[in-house]
Amino acid sequence: DDLETVMEEGEPGSYTRGGRIMVYVRMRPLSKSEKDAGARSCVRVVNKQDVYLAEFASETDYLRLKRLKGRHFVFDAAFPDATGQQEVYNTSTADLVEGVLQGRNGSVFCYGATGAGKTHTMLGSTHNPGVMVLAFKDLFAKLRQHSREGDYVVRLSYLEVYNESVRDLLSPGRPLILREDSKQGTVAAGLTHYQAYSADEVMALLHQGNQNRTTEPTRVNETSSRSHAILQVAVEYKVHHESHYVCRTGKLSLIDLAGSERALATDQRTIRSLEGANINRSLLALSSCINALVEGKRHIPFRNSKLTQLLKDSLGGACQTSMIANISPSNLSFGETQNTLHWADRAKQIRTKACEANEEVQVPESESEQAKLLLEVQKENQ
Ligand code: ADP
Ligand code: MG
Repeated sequence: DDLETVMEEGEPGSYTRGGRIMVYVRMRPLSKSEKDAGARSCVRVVNKQDVYLAEFASETDYLRLKRLKGRHFVFDAAFPDATGQQEVYNTSTADLVEGVLQGRNGSVFCYGATGAGKTHTMLGSTHNPGVMVLAFKDLFAKLRQHSREGDYVVRLSYLEVYNESVRDLLSPGRPLILREDSKQGTVAAGLTHYQAYSADEVMALLHQGNQNRTTEPTRVNETSSRSHAILQVAVEYKVHHESHYVCRTGKLSLIDLAGSERALATDQRTIRSLEGANINRSLLALSSCINALVEGKRHIPFRNSKLTQLLKDSLGGACQTSMIANISPSNLSFGETQNTLHWADRAKQIRTKACEANEEVQVPESESEQAKLLLEVQKENQ
């Protein structure tokens, strides 16, 4: 079936980041409403990578949890509640931005229950910008440092998957149709590709785009917990050498997923039983793909939803991927937190394929230089 994607065998040897998805956990502070409801913290983050989960974790309790299965997790990094946006960016995303400048593709996605801090991590606020905005700041700073004006182009697109329909967040209108392009992979036909010149301008654009995300019908001002937002940043960049230049193209995808509550399933039977219920189809399809990837299956069902079609390259392709699992510390969210941590723990096993740089060698196009080359060729032929 040519519509289905069959994974190619990965080539060992040239993996970066150990050839797997990097998995991080970020715990947010207890909120005022949680405190008012008498909530206590049931999560402890230690040594920048260990996460302990207990019904009521006192200062001394958590060490005993090491022996309890499913209560102690180790991640590539774990961020306690006081961790700032810049540190989360530096650890999870900065190396992917560097990779984009070398012509590699990268993606970062935030996963977790509604209210766990995904949008805060990805978008943040004007005064406390998140990963999306910090990535642009870093990107423009590096481009200006290493190349001349006019030698690079940065384009961005921002879309939403809601209820299996794809919408342009920069220019809202009719739902977009996805199609497969042999060169670019899955593309949304008619999507706006905005050429950006500075991080400040992008910040305003993204906040505007976020306003366009689908809101919960019952609560007009609240972003729907079923909306997935995908920001894609494409960079074209020229590196000059003496007689030629190299054109590099890299793409970074930053994804703010829908709330994962009730959609977490680590086996196919649970997934099928959830399909009947009114659960986010894209998120379930994502679970299925992750399961298939973890189990090393040859067939990965990327075609099952819009989200997985769009993320195909990020999950199974030659791409460097980071996952940030967001959690609340509240004992009132114990179940969700445990599910999120369990899911994140499994994601550590996903292998990625060798990530080659996309670059093309070109010769200068100016007339005098072309004439010079022609002269040399004629001399050689004589
Ligand atoms: P989600 O997108 O996962 O539903 P939000 O990012 O909207 O959750 O976060 C819910 C609330 O918690 C928001 O008011 C947000 O500002 C706050 N919040 C989330 N993470 C943090 C954090 N690390 N530090 C401070 N406040 C946070
Ligand atoms: Mg959100």
